[in-house]
Formats: sequence, C-alpha cells, structure tokens
Amino acid sequence: MPKETGVIFDIKHFAVHDGPGIRTTVFFKGCPLSCWWCHNPESKNSNPEKIESTSMILSGTGKKCDKDIIGREVQVSDVMDELLKDVIFYDESGGGVTFSGGESLMQPEFLASLLKECKKNGIHTCIDTSGYASKQILDTVIDNVDLFLYDLKLMMNEEHEKYTGVGNEIIQQNLEYICEKQKQVVVRIPIIPNITDTTGNILQLGEYVSGLNCIIRVDLLPYNQMGEEKYRRLGKQYLLNNISPPSEERMFQIKEKLETFNLKVKIGG
Ligand code: SF4
Repeated sequence: MPKETGVIFDIKHFAVHDGPGIRTTVFFKGCPLSCWWCHNPESKNSNPEKIESTSMILSGTGKKCDKDIIGREVQVSDVMDELLKDVIFYDESGGGVTFSGGESLMQPEFLASLLKECKKNGIHTCIDTSGYASKQILDTVIDNVDLFLYDLKLMMNEEHEKYTGVGNEIIQQNLEYICEKQKQVVVRIPIIPNITDTTGNILQLGEYVSGLNCIIRVDLLPYNQMGEEKYRRLGKQYLLNNISPPSEERMFQIKEKLETFNLKVKIGG
C-alpha cells in the first residue's frame, strides 16, 4: 500500500557528500540503531520532538530555554515539489536525490512512494542506510534504488550489539542480498578510535567487503564531535566524551590497509 505521509527532519539542497554529483538529501526521522557516535541524535526518535533552541544558547540567556520542534509530517507531493526544484543541478552534475536519516527503511511505504516518483521523473536515487530492515521491506524499494550508501561498522557481532544496540547479522545478510541483485554499493565505515578503528576490525572489514562483487568504493568517515552539543540540547547522554577524531595519518594508514584488499578507498563521504 503506498503511503503518502511520512516524518522527516530536514531537506538539504546542494549536498556533495551524499552520493555522486549535486544532490538533495531528505533526512527521515527514526532509526532502529543507537550508535554511540551518532552525530544526528535528533534522528533517533520517529516522531517530532522538542530540542533546546540554538538562539537561546547563542544569546546565553540563562537557564529557562525555548524549545524548537525537530521533525515534521510531510506529504510525498510536498517533498517532490522540493526535489524537483533542483533537477537542473542533478542533470548537469550527474547527481540526484539521497534518502538518509535516521533510517529511511523505517518508513518503507513512504520511502517506496518517493523512490517511485523520483524514477518517474528520471532522477537518480540513493539511500544512505544502516541496512537494518527485513528482506521484505528491502524488496519493496530495491528496484527503484540506483545506489546504496551502506554503513558497515563492526564485524564482531557482540561489539556491534554493544555499540549500536543491534547485531550485525541482518545487516550483512541484506548487503549480500543487494549484491545478488546486482545493485551498486558504496560501503561507508565510520572510523571511531578504539571502537571501529582496531586492527582486527579493519582487517575483517577488508576481508569481508573484498569478497562481495557489488562494492564500487569504500568511504572512510572520520569520527567528529559535531553531534555532542545536540545531545545536551535533547537532554540525552553523550557516551563518547573522551574520544578525539582520528589523525590524518591514521586515516591514511587505514586507507592503505584496505587498499591491500584491492578495494577502491576514499577518505570522507
Ligand atoms: S545508524 Fe546512523 S542515524 Fe542511526 S544511530 Fe547509527 S549513526 Fe545514527
């Protein structure tokens, strides 16, 4: 059943790190994972929610804070109106639309409707996904996705469960299924010091990814602390207080290590 309404928290025009060319990125609200390093904590909850206003922080006006609402319910037609404004930029740059989040597969009918409309209008489509969804859900969208930006984090299941709240079996099974379907995939690895960035994990990721036939590139995404302030504004606890971003040198070391598996590797998205 097509669904015409969904909840998003942002639409970003002229994005250049969310797939090829110039893109418009739609951020869905709701995510089944709870990654310790997530820099979009406002994406976690599926419903619109209150966040302390930035204007109050900037003006330093004390303890009594205004609240903004993050997230809004929108119609497929509203989103398409926004996406179609940028068609000329997609065409000239080889770009298109990316559905991100949060996890867009958590609103599968809404996502399927949007993908269908994009394809009807000849727009290239990406989804940026954790891969955590049922195969039935994946089947409802897969034919209308041109490129998957697919997150892989930790190869050890217990570690994956500890740091993201879910195991990695479904994620790996879905990635293998996407490859069987001969779709194109860019794997994205968040590089979190001492968590995803351990020698063992990087080697296991290299070995696993190089055994798949649909991976066109691996992107390494260095940890950043950009989300920390948002946790405070949402009244949530940030668990990675004492971690610094990886050095440039370390990022190059990881890139070189993964290249020994004959993978094409890029630092950044
Ligand atoms: S999968 Fe992405 S959006 Fe979801 S919690 Fe992890 S980093 Fe955040």
